[in-house]
Amino acid sequence: GRKFPRPPKTRIITVANQKGGVGKTTTTVNVAAGLAQSGLNVLVIDNDPQGNASTALGIEHRAGTPSVYEILVEGESLASTIQQCPDVPNLWGVPATIDLSGSEIELVSLVSRETRLRKAIDKYLADRIAAGEERIDYVLIDCPPSLGLLTVNAFVAGREVFIPIQCEYYALEGLSQLLKTIDLIRSHLNPELRVSSILLTMYDGRTNLAQQVAGEVRSHFPAETFKTTIPRSVRISEAPSYGQTVMTYDATSTGALAYLQASRELAERGQGGSSPRRAMQAEPVGAQ
Ligand code: ADP
Ligand code: MG
Repeated sequence: GRKFPRPPKTRIITVANQKGGVGKTTTTVNVAAGLAQSGLNVLVIDNDPQGNASTALGIEHRAGTPSVYEILVEGESLASTIQQCPDVPNLWGVPATIDLSGSEIELVSLVSRETRLRKAIDKYLADRIAAGEERIDYVLIDCPPSLGLLTVNAFVAGREVFIPIQCEYYALEGLSQLLKTIDLIRSHLNPELRVSSILLTMYDGRTNLAQQVAGEVRSHFPAETFKTTIPRSVRISEAPSYGQTVMTYDATSTGALAYLQASRELAERGQGGSSPRRAMQAEPVGAQ
């Protein structure tokens, strides 16, 4: 049965951080699986040419498979690319293939290059409703580790930004750049966009450093930072090699339970992580 509340309308959430290896993909797929296991309809868009989210979701992503590339560059419908994930009911994915790696360059010369993903998602959601199908409750978009056109498309498509932060040295470095980019997108392309969620990943509470970083993140972003932290867990890192999320690979592991709790927090907080009026300040973070 459904355990988490359904949002009043589809929440479209862009998972971003231009740093690599901070847990974007891991967070995207496991939060998505947690929401889906709790009865919600969830769609993951793998917007990173590396295709790691596709691997973890167990969906086909060999070169030539209809994917985000076809949506962005060839203007194909999202419906023609979507796949049902094998292990979790109510979970769907749009894969990324290696074809996507050239797309940032190909997109430059295309009309409305920043809004292509948004149009495809919005049309898909509207078509489902028109066809009398069940609504998608959450769309999660996994981003590459850069602020290029792929990430810009994801920021224009999303209504919320979810930032995973790894509790390490330099965790906050680059965050002001990310927030500035989000501000620019808000001013020029997507006035609704705001940071709703920050999740501390690979957190080891026994170390002073992790505690210090966590404290700093919470003091800058008290409303956005989740109470739940994600511990380092071997099971989390093993799951993708079995084409699974940790939620099905080892559902009772500490990593799976932490991600289930994070997905519950996301669902229960609604959109209300931060007040829409409270603009986030980029400056103090850059001073790290
Ligand atoms: P990103 O998408 O930001 O590049 P990933 O989600 O791919 O980051 O994570 C980077 C690496 O760290 C991957 O090998 C992943 O399996 C591993 N990893 C992520 N989160 C955890 C965790 N909580 N515990 C252990 N390993 C993790
Ligand atoms: Mg990734």
